[in-house]
Amino acid sequence: MHTAIFETSCASIIDHIDNGILLLDSTNCILKWNQFMARHSGIQSQAILNKNIFEVFPDLPRAWLELKLKSVRLLKNYSFISWTQRPYLFQFSAKNQIIGDSLEFMFQDSTFFPVTDPDTGDTGVCIVIKDVTDMAQANRQIEEMKDITQTLSNIANFDPMTGIFNRSHIEQLLKMEFKRAERYKSEFSIILFDIDYFKKVNDTYGHLAGDEVLKQLCQAVSHQLRDSDLFGRFGGEEFLIILPNASAPCAKIVSEKLRRLVESLTIPFNEWKIQITISQGLVSYQEKMTDPLQMIYESDLAMYHSKKQGRNRASQFMFNEQCSVTL
Ligand code: GH3
Ligand code: MG
Ligand code: MG
Repeated sequence: MHTAIFETSCASIIDHIDNGILLLDSTNCILKWNQFMARHSGIQSQAILNKNIFEVFPDLPRAWLELKLKSVRLLKNYSFISWTQRPYLFQFSAKNQIIGDSLEFMFQDSTFFPVTDPDTGDTGVCIVIKDVTDMAQANRQIEEMKDITQTLSNIANFDPMTGIFNRSHIEQLLKMEFKRAERYKSEFSIILFDIDYFKKVNDTYGHLAGDEVLKQLCQAVSHQLRDSDLFGRFGGEEFLIILPNASAPCAKIVSEKLRRLVESLTIPFNEWKIQITISQGLVSYQEKMTDPLQMIYESDLAMYHSKKQGRNRASQFMFNEQCSVTL
């Protein structure tokens, strides 16, 4: 009597639980099909009992599922398949479908465990299906938010034409580098450079050619710099490079490499091959400095010194003498 009540209660619990529960015998025929499965498949229990699951659901991934059932029976161990590995086992419609905004099918976590008949010794498999559509949906929204955040960050930090950092971001990075140097007594240098006679490039070849020169120049300089170096567009054809951990002699070597690199560039545009040079101003951090923007002002002075001295060269701002010297 007790056992009968217990079995009735179990059947009721299995039917009312908000998970799919199905039991397959050793030949994959359905022995139990709870209300959750009936509701979502549209097939009532009495219509499906003792039928082979693959005949009723030809859409199931047969080869994969047969192997899974075989291994659960053989190893007599449970197995769990997350929706991230296989979005769903049964093609049930997702609840709360909003066209164009929602997931088409119910996403499912599936757990398989072996059930042995004590009388015959045959091993069946019980499958528990959990509806995780809400989680999958939330996950998808998080991924979309990440993409949007990344796009916004790109718009905020990068120059659209050249793909390098824009002025406000490179200035921010300079302030951070300056603070780091103050705190850890480390060294770093900056290089400000400007294209020589760029107006002439625009006047001779046109503004589009000028744009192409800016893009190619940035690509070549980015390629030359180390990954840890920071490169930004400071103005129209004026650029700022931050060289973390670089002393003045080190910055001098970098500037000469850049000078030669740009001098040797030939930028094809229509039938022309355009050549340019750059003038550079260098400043290295010193402990007595108090303002990162002061470094930009000083590198600007050094850069104009290079212009005055004949262009296609670099000058270093000397802190003590308040003057710049051609390298
Ligand atoms: P200098 O050697 O003294 O620097 O001479 P310059 O002709 O390069 O003079 P300057 O630096 O003042 O010229 C800047 C020119 O760069 C003027 C402007 O038309 C051009 N320029 C600025 N931004 C862009 C851009 O995005 N595209 C193009 N094509 N030209 C630009
Ligand atoms: Mg210029
Ligand atoms: Mg300029």
